[in-house]
Amino acid sequence: LLESRQTGHQRAFLKIQDGCDAYCTYCIIPTLRPRVSSKPVEDVVEEARRLVGAGHVELILTGIFMGAYGQETALRRRQIARDALTPLGRLIEGLCTRVPGLKRLRLSSLEPGDLTADLLGLMRSHAQVVPHFHLPLQSGSERVLRRMNRQYTRDDFLRMIDDVRAAFDRPAITTDIIVGFPGETEDEFRQTVDVAERSGFIHVHAFPFSPRPGTAAARWAKDFVRPDVAAERVRALREIGERQGLSFRRQFAGETVEVLAESSNASDDAHWQHGRTARYFAVHFQHPEGAAGRTVRVRVDEVLPDRTVGTVVGMGEA
Ligand code: SF4
Repeated sequence: LLESRQTGHQRAFLKIQDGCDAYCTYCIIPTLRPRVSSKPVEDVVEEARRLVGAGHVELILTGIFMGAYGQETALRRRQIARDALTPLGRLIEGLCTRVPGLKRLRLSSLEPGDLTADLLGLMRSHAQVVPHFHLPLQSGSERVLRRMNRQYTRDDFLRMIDDVRAAFDRPAITTDIIVGFPGETEDEFRQTVDVAERSGFIHVHAFPFSPRPGTAAARWAKDFVRPDVAAERVRALREIGERQGLSFRRQFAGETVEVLAESSNASDDAHWQHGRTARYFAVHFQHPEGAAGRTVRVRVDEVLPDRTVGTVVGMGEA
């Protein structure tokens, strides 16, 4: 079994896949762990049952390359012909139908090519699958994506965003972006900004390119982008994520949302707590006895840049 790890009381990470042979030009993983392996469905279901039995009612599926689940390679052109439902789809179905007590199922990272119409339809049909998707963009420039050796185009990515939005009510979409990839021009960065705005990411994990010895991109030193330029691009993308995240949360003002309550905030009034919604943003609320580990229905009263505050209107089961 691959390792799994827990965080807090309610959420647990469940690793389902390891290794990658896609050889993105900036990534060292295929050199270190080229063998693609997956945890069998039965083992994942069994592990999920144990985790849920221990109180982790939200599971986050993780892997180096989720789209390679049940495949021998992460290279899409070499993956074996599949029936309508991919192995990842069959796994999600198994978890949603065979793990009593599982409230939320979150998938850590997906790409165009993973989210087929069949998979989206399946996810939509199981209430446990949360409307939060982490979809790493890396770059919105066609040329940079090719130089990165990513397996999708800018248009593939934008189509995936449209498909997710069509399938789910107000999905929360987060992403990872590498800025200052060797040779990235101002215009190419603008294309990334354009995709970030069109996609409406509510959080952008932007980080500057950092050469990993042994990778192809580490050898392109003459094209390295100046650190101050990269830092400015990181700042611009983070700002977009914060702005879009705030307007995303504002849609829920006045609505009642379900949160999984986490531990009390010791630095605050002892009665203040927070929990995460299915769309992953945190909501802060007061509860006299403490609600950690419980499902709480909270009316969203106030949406501030740094926090969302609400009032408890009902409790779920412990
Ligand atoms: S797909 Fe992910 S793990 Fe595989 S080489 Fe690319 S960045 Fe690395």
